Amino acid sequence: MTPASRLFVVSGPSGVGKSTVLRRVVREVSGLSFAVSHTTRPRREGEEDGRDYHFVGDAEFDALVADDAFVEWAEVHDHRYGTSRGALAPPAGGDLLIEVDVQGARSLRDEIPGAVTIFIAPPAFSDLEARLTGRGRESGAEVRRRLRTAEGEMPLAGDYDHRVVNADIETTVREIVRVIEDARVAAR
Ligand code: 5GP
Repeated sequence: MTPASRLFVVSGPSGVGKSTVLRRVVREVSGLSFAVSHTTRPRREGEEDGRDYHFVGDAEFDALVADDAFVEWAEVHDHRYGTSRGALAPPAGGDLLIEVDVQGARSLRDEIPGAVTIFIAPPAFSDLEARLTGRGRESGAEVRRRLRTAEGEMPLAGDYDHRVVNADIETTVREIVRVIEDARVAAR
């Protein structure tokens, strides 16, 4: 991180609507871009290498770990995900937004002083199941696994600087934009 830029770290359980909300936030806030993580997870349809993730194989991920290329990395649902030092070098000194799991947020909070952490929560736990099932991307077993992970993630919401309940996308986007704008004002 360059001293003039800020890092906004966002987590939330699978199915809470993070990706939709965060894509909108990055579009609406000037001088804010996504920090692109590395992952060993296979690319999903519609995802682009270098935009959504740097998609790498296990051997390449191992080599990056050995080279100390990551500020943090974690295993989530059988795949590895990592924030590289390079990903935290923002273009032209702008601010960065990164979506990481709860393990990644804990590490980034320790590693990057001044990182602002935001947890996106569902209105009710049952909404996660409805959304995960509704999008039809994961099998029944995978949905159950993500819900078990979510049970472990939800109690950690209190460790974040800000908590936003995603009852409505517009409102959630506005609330996160406000957190970012307030942090910018406070840093002046
Ligand atoms: P997905 O496979 O659905 O894109 O992401 C699965 C999980 O990995 C999500 O909780 C996401 O926030 C997390 N994740 C994505 N990138 C990183 C990263 O760089 N580090 C960590 N620790 N988690 C990440």
